Amino acid sequence: ASRERLLVVANRLPVSAVRRGVDSWHLEISVGGLVSALLGVKEFETRWIGWAGVNVPDEIGQRALIKALAEKRCIPVFLDEEIVHQYYNGYCNNILWPLFHYLGLPQEDRLATTRSFQSQFDAYKKANQMFAEVVKEHYVEGDVVWCHDYHLMFLPKCLKERNRKMKVGWFLHTPFPSSEIHRTLPSRLELLRSVLAADLVGFHTYDYARHFVSACTRILGLEGTPEGVEDQGRLTRVAAFPIGIDSDRFIRALELPQVQDHMKELKERFAGRKVMLGVDRLDMIKGIPQKILAFEKFLEENPNWRDKVVLLQIAVPTRTDVPEYQKLTSQVHEIVGRINGRFGTLTAVPIHHLDRSLDFHALCALYAVTDVALVTSLRDGMNLVSYEFVACQASKKGVLILSEFAGAAQSLGAGAILVNPWNVTEVASSIGYALNMPADEREKRHHHNFVHVTTHTSQEWAATFVSELNDTIVEAQLRT
Ligand code: UDP
Repeated sequence: ASRERLLVVANRLPVSAVRRGVDSWHLEISVGGLVSALLGVKEFETRWIGWAGVNVPDEIGQRALIKALAEKRCIPVFLDEEIVHQYYNGYCNNILWPLFHYLGLPQEDRLATTRSFQSQFDAYKKANQMFAEVVKEHYVEGDVVWCHDYHLMFLPKCLKERNRKMKVGWFLHTPFPSSEIHRTLPSRLELLRSVLAADLVGFHTYDYARHFVSACTRILGLEGTPEGVEDQGRLTRVAAFPIGIDSDRFIRALELPQVQDHMKELKERFAGRKVMLGVDRLDMIKGIPQKILAFEKFLEENPNWRDKVVLLQIAVPTRTDVPEYQKLTSQVHEIVGRINGRFGTLTAVPIHHLDRSLDFHALCALYAVTDVALVTSLRDGMNLVSYEFVACQASKKGVLILSEFAGAAQSLGAGAILVNPWNVTEVASSIGYALNMPADEREKRHHHNFVHVTTHTSQEWAATFVSELNDTIVEAQLRT
């Protein structure tokens, strides 16, 4: 018998497509995240459905792209520019993203968002229906359909309406906020109902799952049980599935000659100084200004450390066309400039801030030579950077300072120093504690986290979700 098929539906396909001619495309697979996770689901044959990230208005181009992607087991959903603007930039990134991370909009944006809400939500539903069309076209009876993230909350309902027997799971990669936050969303009812159409609904942490269940009980008046949410005898299973990383990939990378060379260079470059590291997309949720202010406070209070520690902040540009993100960028630059002016010398500055991404090998080398990693997210679904740092620290056994508002705090809390990123005094003193930590305590803490990161991998996460989805469906059939 052939293997069961898994259709993974996500806003973006794991490839970027660049057009080379009327009917020719260049494809680049991104190996990170979900792609390596799904290598763990060996008993399934995986196919991907999603947007390729480009506008392809003409039929020749579309047909050529379909053909090129088919070789990578990818199936494109074609979204036109207007839909992308309203659904992706608008509803997803401007409404759901900030709301799910407890971020308020600036006053002037708030009214504009209120006005455009309905048209953006309509575009969101329409886009989700377009994803559903493509799923329907490629669905074969028995396929498992796994929908991903806040972009596709309307999809489970679209799929089940057409085919009640389809096996549908949905997983959220961001936090799910308190029901008190969710209830401010004009489309609060429709989104919850639609997600509940899935057979299995998954979150990174128990807290997010609990928030979702209480939103369903308070806003929809349904019954929450330890298993999930019940609606007229039908159960939607709700559970926590904390994601992980492909830890072997990082551990193996550290053995490569080019990574070793890079580590050597970094060690020479920062000889005599302790290295602190931040790696974040330059997003409001990451708390980068808070982190840098805490570092400033630490330098202020500990003059003896001033020429003995350096903070390397990798700030990966994101949504650079959005004014609020531009504002954040210049705000961070200003703070960094001020602190470097204040504490720098002719030969060294305390903060190296980079507005760019690093390639995988450079990133691994950086993780490996770091003494203290600083994750100060104000909210973060999981935060994989903290996992990646731990995976690369087998020899150095550095310290992780981790925001209690990152999902990772639930899993790495025992080994990390947990902090409230809003409390600059607390973060500053944690920096001091981390830099002075004796080797035996560092080893103990590192060991704890290393065991977790290497046993709770992304492969295991994906396999667990899919098998739980299958079990859920078998149980439901037994009940009826
Ligand atoms: N990352 C990268 N290049 C960089 C910096 C980071 O590819 O220069 C990757 C990093 O390895 C990690 C991801 O970006 O896998 C960030 O994931 P995380 O969960 O920490 O935060 P997100 O960006 O998803 O909010």
